[in-house]
Amino acid sequence: MTQKQYRAPKGTRDILPGAAERHRNLVQVFQEQAQAYGFGHVMTPIFEHLGVFTRIGESTDIVTKEMYDFEDKSGTQMALRPELTASVVRAFIQNNPQQLPWKVWYEGPQFRYERPQAGRYRQFSQLGVEALGSYDPIIDAEIIALGASFYKAVGLRKVKLLLNSLGDRPSRAKYLTALQSYFNDHRSDLSEQSITTLEKNPLRVLDSKRPQDAGIIEAAPVMADFLEAEPKEHFNTVRECLEKLQIGYEISPRLVRGLDYYGLTTFEYQSEALDSAQNAVGGGGRYDELAEQLGGKPTGGIGFAIGIDRVLLAADSEGVFDTPDLAPDVFVIDVVGGMQAAVIISELASLGISAQRSYDNRSMKAQFRAADRSGASLGVIIGEDELKAGEITVRELASQERIQQRVKRSEMIDELKKRLSK
Ligand code: AMP
Repeated sequence: MTQKQYRAPKGTRDILPGAAERHRNLVQVFQEQAQAYGFGHVMTPIFEHLGVFTRIGESTDIVTKEMYDFEDKSGTQMALRPELTASVVRAFIQNNPQQLPWKVWYEGPQFRYERPQAGRYRQFSQLGVEALGSYDPIIDAEIIALGASFYKAVGLRKVKLLLNSLGDRPSRAKYLTALQSYFNDHRSDLSEQSITTLEKNPLRVLDSKRPQDAGIIEAAPVMADFLEAEPKEHFNTVRECLEKLQIGYEISPRLVRGLDYYGLTTFEYQSEALDSAQNAVGGGGRYDELAEQLGGKPTGGIGFAIGIDRVLLAADSEGVFDTPDLAPDVFVIDVVGGMQAAVIISELASLGISAQRSYDNRSMKAQFRAADRSGASLGVIIGEDELKAGEITVRELASQERIQQRVKRSEMIDELKKRLSK
C-alpha cells in the first residue's frame, strides 16, 4: 500500500541548507547592528493568550481574520503570534525591567492566515526592535537609523524610507472626523472592502491597495494639516535628528500601519527592487498607548519589524548577500572500511576544520567523484598502503595539477592547515 505523501502546509516553506544558512547570516548581521545600538536579545513564546492580540487591533485583518487562534487542551484561548510588538510589551509589563528605556531586539516566525503569494506567507520570519519607557523623539530617529543601517549592512542600495506622523489622540480625533466625512462623501465610489473598513476605522482605508480606491485616497485630507503643536514638534525633532544622522527619507502623508496601536511617528522601508505589492521590507512606529491597553502603566514605546523573507528577495533582486558556500574544507576518502575517516573527521571537527566523506563502502572512484562534487579544496586519502605506513595522502582537489603528497598521520593536521591557509 502506498502511503499518502504530505507537503508543507500552504503558505509555509522548507528552508533548506544554503538558504537556511543565508537566513541565519542575515539574523547575525541584524544582531550585530542591534547590539551596537545597545539592544539586548529577547525571546518570547510563539503562542500567547489570545487577548494579548485581540486587544491591540480590533479593526485590523491581522487580528480579526488572519489569526491562528485555537483552544488548548484545557480550553484556554491561545493564538500563534501574528506579530511581536504585543508579546514584547506583554513581557515588559510582566517582567518590569528597572533600566529604562528597555531596548530589545528579536527574531523569529510569525503566523498570519493570508493569501499566499511571492513574498507573502502564512509563516514568515521577522527581525525587530522595541524600546519601551521613553517618549523622546530622538529615540524614534535612532531606531529608524538602526533599520537603515541594517539594510545598508546587507548591501541593499534600493531601500527608501517613508515617514509620517499619526499625531496624538486629539489631533487624530480631528483628523478621523475629517477623513470620515471625506470618505462618506465618496462612499459610492469606494471598493466594497473599504466601505466595511470605513465603518471600523477610516484611517485603515488609506491602507487599501485596491485600484478602485486609489484616486479617492490620493485626494484625501492629510494628517499633517491636523497636527497639534506638541505632536508637530515631536515630528519636527525626529526629522531634524534624521537629517543630522544623514538618513534620507520621504514624507508620506497617508502612510498608516497595519495595526491600530500606532500614534505619532510611523515609518516604512520600501525596496524599489521589489513589486509594489510586496515592496514593504519593514516598518514600525510609536505606540505610547499600547502598554496601558495591555494592563500596564502608561509607557512610551517605539519599534519596527523587518520581514526576513522580503529582505532576502530584495537581496536576490539586487544581487547582494549571496547564499554562503557550504563546501567543506576537506573530503576524506577512506578505502579501508570507513572507520579511519570517522576518526579523522572527529579530529578535524574539534579543530574547526569542516569535512565530508562517503559512506557504504563506495569504490575509490565513486569517492573521488563525490569529493569533486563536494567542492572541498583538499582530499585526505587513506588506503591500505597509507594505513600500513602510518601515513595519509593529501591531495589538492581545487587546483588543476591535483598535487598529492604522502605525510605521516601525526603530521596530517599541520599539513592540512598549511595548505588551507594558502
Ligand atoms: P507588519 O508586522 O505587518 O508591520 O510587517 C512588518 C514586515 O514584515 C513587513 O514590512 C514585511 O516585510 C513583513 N511581512 C509582513 N507580513 C508578511 C507575510 N505574510 N509574509 C512575508 N513577510 C511579511
